[in-house]
Amino acid sequence: MTQTITEDRGLDDEFDQQKDAVIMMVDDEPILMEIIQTFLEEEGYQHFITIDDSTKALATIDQERPDVLLLDLMMPEVDGFTILESIRRDAWNKYLPVIVLTSSTDSETKLRALEMGATDFLAKPVDSSELALRLRNTLMVKAYQDQLTYYDTLTNLPNRKLFLDRVDWAIQRSHRAEKPMAVMVVGLDRFKQVNETFGPRAGDEILTQAAARLKFAVRQDDVVTVAQRWQSVARLGGDEFAVLLPEISQAEIAGSVARRMLDALKEPLSVEGQDVFISASIGIATSPEDGQDSDALMKNAAIATDFAKQQGRGTYQFYSPDLDAKSRELFELETDLRRALSRNELELHYQPKVETSSGKTVGMEALVRWRHPSRGMISPGVFIPMAEDGGLIVPIGAWLLEEACRENMRLAEAGFDNLKVSVNISAVQISDPGLHDVVANALANTGLDPARLILEITESVVMGDVESNLKVLHDIRGLGVSLSIDDFGTGYSSLSYLKRFPIEELKVDKSFLDEVEHSDEDAAIVRAIIVLAHTLELTVTAEGVENANQVAFLQEVGCDIIQGYHFSKPLPPDQLLAFLQG
Ligand code: C2E
Ligand code: MG
Ligand code: MG
Repeated sequence: MTQTITEDRGLDDEFDQQKDAVIMMVDDEPILMEIIQTFLEEEGYQHFITIDDSTKALATIDQERPDVLLLDLMMPEVDGFTILESIRRDAWNKYLPVIVLTSSTDSETKLRALEMGATDFLAKPVDSSELALRLRNTLMVKAYQDQLTYYDTLTNLPNRKLFLDRVDWAIQRSHRAEKPMAVMVVGLDRFKQVNETFGPRAGDEILTQAAARLKFAVRQDDVVTVAQRWQSVARLGGDEFAVLLPEISQAEIAGSVARRMLDALKEPLSVEGQDVFISASIGIATSPEDGQDSDALMKNAAIATDFAKQQGRGTYQFYSPDLDAKSRELFELETDLRRALSRNELELHYQPKVETSSGKTVGMEALVRWRHPSRGMISPGVFIPMAEDGGLIVPIGAWLLEEACRENMRLAEAGFDNLKVSVNISAVQISDPGLHDVVANALANTGLDPARLILEITESVVMGDVESNLKVLHDIRGLGVSLSIDDFGTGYSSLSYLKRFPIEELKVDKSFLDEVEHSDEDAAIVRAIIVLAHTLELTVTAEGVENANQVAFLQEVGCDIIQGYHFSKPLPPDQLLAFLQG
């Protein structure tokens, strides 16, 4: 019994979906179309295009891409047969369902229309109940065929074929409307890794949930136009999605849609009872600037996506012609990076951490620099993501961890024997099973007291396999070193997570301090972070502090440690010693 009810429900839902269909009528008698429209509106249909001048029919079909055509056969100038014939020859509209309206009882006419590919017949005068049923059945068949041909079975999103077709159509349309349109290629970051960790079934689940998030993020209102029906999120294949924004008032709108998508992916997905964090890299290409056909536009959007990935993921990038060259340059840099370690091109600088209450230097953060033989100093923001991608971060990280420990021992010999040194550890290192030994070796090889080593991790280490990452962190904590959460507040930070991490310190991200003197909101955030952190018995360090006003504020709200240009830039070892000696 229940079974039957749900089945009926299913059909009803499908019929309801059909009510979104665009119904086009071509008839030389406007009155007749009006009657049909009125009746179909009562049935719940909402989108109609009526054409009484049959010479305009074909162009309108091309522009509006209706779901079904009700076509009169006998019309002056261009008759229904001619229109039908052209439709069936057209690459795009070949399969458009056409219901032919004819007063002719003449079987030869019917036969001819059928031969030309008419989908169904309706006798004039039109019987309204019969019309409703024939229309419903025709749309059902179309929906079924569309589903098989044009939709991805996993996510139910349009597939590449349908997407490219829509892109071509949207390019033409935007050209006529003289408004830009945009395509975006969305690649999920490190999906392969996630898939390997969790298995293919979880992988499918992640793709499905990510698809739903993207769809939701796109479907908000800044892209409202007549063309909204064609706005779509598609799955190109694998971990690649695409978005079409058919008519936008300006190219920048694509940027805000991209930001919304990135935000929508920030909250963890729930897969087989586990929280899984993912992110995406998005490339955007707009027409007419970046291409006049779907091939060019998609290729350029993909180039922009690759560039966004190279830039460190979780970001979006507009295509520009120089990206190709920039991409190549980054590629060359990556090759150079492979040799940087053996050629001694990496060095560590140290930024003092100052105790707020006493003004004393209590430690320093090690920040890596790359002295490239021809390009000069390269910042870690550029090459660390690169090293993470190529797996190079593991040997590089091991080297700089030991180097930082050794430097701290040198400082101790120079009389500064109670400083703590902080070393940044990348999320990729956390997933490396050898990390525990790397830390243990660095301590053993240098003789540094573990209590004087702090490892900084970012919130993104919860990405991927949370449980196993937690185990790794507890193991490392067992060596006696401390853990700190870097850039706190920028990622997905929930206290329930923090409580589970064996950490001693929070570093409030610079972005909250930039405006802290002018923004009540930022001031309130910093204040709240400090209160919460102290409740959890964590030390709070503020980073990126540049002026005395910020220092005064941080003193007032009880921040423990301050780090930033106000006290000192990161310094090479000899200058750090000079700084300490005052
Ligand atoms: P981070 O760990 O959050 O480091 C703080 C960054 O802010 C450093 O940039 C530092 O030079 C900069 N900074 C410090 N005080 C101020 C200030 O007052 N004003 C401004 N505008 N900036 C300030 P840097 O050295 O370019 O490093 C960038 C990021 O690269 C680091 O962010 C860290 O995530 C990563 N990184 C640096 N060294 C290493 C490393 O040895 N290993 C790993 N895995 N990552 C590293
Ligand atoms: Mg740091
Ligand atoms: Mg930081």
